[in-house]
Amino acid sequence: MFEIIFTGKYAKYNLGAEHPFSPLRMKMTLELLEALGEKVEFTEPQPVEPDELFKIHSQDYVEAAEAVSDGKEIPNAEKYGLGTADNPVTEGMAEGARYICGGTLLGAKMLIENKAEKVLQLGGGLHHAHYSSAAGFCLYNDLALAIKEMTQNGMYVAYIDIDVHHGDGVQEIFYNDDKVMTISFHETGEYLFPGTGSIFELGNGAGKNLKLNVPLEPFTEGESYLEAVKKVAQTALSQFHPDAIVIQSGADAHFSDPLADLLLTTQDYEKLFRLLIELGNNFAKGKMLFTLGGGYSFEAASRIWTILYLVLSGKKIPKNLEIPENWRRRWSGILGVELPEFLHDRPNSYKAIPRKKEIEAHNRDTVRRLLDLSTAGMFYF
Ligand SMILES: [Zn+2]
Repeated sequence: MFEIIFTGKYAKYNLGAEHPFSPLRMKMTLELLEALGEKVEFTEPQPVEPDELFKIHSQDYVEAAEAVSDGKEIPNAEKYGLGTADNPVTEGMAEGARYICGGTLLGAKMLIENKAEKVLQLGGGLHHAHYSSAAGFCLYNDLALAIKEMTQNGMYVAYIDIDVHHGDGVQEIFYNDDKVMTISFHETGEYLFPGTGSIFELGNGAGKNLKLNVPLEPFTEGESYLEAVKKVAQTALSQFHPDAIVIQSGADAHFSDPLADLLLTTQDYEKLFRLLIELGNNFAKGKMLFTLGGGYSFEAASRIWTILYLVLSGKKIPKNLEIPENWRRRWSGILGVELPEFLHDRPNSYKAIPRKKEIEAHNRDTVRRLLDLSTAGMFYF
């Protein structure tokens, strides 16, 4: 059974009209689904209380974030990453982030209590939030809160992060934890925020060899990306056999994303979602919780998350599925850009890459080196 979680209250996590992490992306996605004739029924979550966040964040950080969000001055906001260009302080943002955490947590509970097999949280994915600081547009780590709830209920959890940026916050919070495997596929930190996510970050102590990172070359295309996901995720999951998989479904690896340099198309995303579901069915009893994440080409992100919804509902997506005119006209007016006529990208929609072969070989080598480094320690499962 496929459940959807959403509330309009997520929009309270609004970092300003000019900020790329905009709640409009969720609204666009929901309206596109409706325009395509989908009747989207969702469960609305409650916000978590600040003290529930102490499981994954330090108490002083949460108190600082709540205080600035209520308009109070605090002496050491910078120490907590609050009030930066990436994480500006806006009124009510902490409450918005607690709604988002409540949504992802509700998804975890649905899996724990066998109320759903697959869950789509139409928000969240704040994977850069650290134990004691905000970072990369993320205030509270909803993913970590959900994963913690599952492990405290005896589950082993695999976390797969397909956002183009390294899932550093989630990795950090579970770095020593043997109940959580994290696998992040991202553009190499040599060129992109947050700069971490090398193959040598493998975890510590009991968590050793359970944290896997696949840093991909800039301008990696879909074929090479999918090959890496298949090889690494299949190898890792077949040894770890989690009870559930949590997926951060960032849409910023799309070729049109303004903040990164990978070259996935919407067709690649459809293949990727189908592959992840197959892996979940084979190695995690089908239990999967998907969240959203980054994605700063609004027209690409809304189409990619629409595709995620359609794939999860078991639908075939026609190659030339047209986007209804009313949606295009409305959002074109709001965003001031032309919007595509079709749900899927058109052929040759980005410029061919001359170093394709070299990039593919480099990525293959990265995967081989990672698996050489990590498999020895993973075989004890
Ligand atoms: Zn991202």
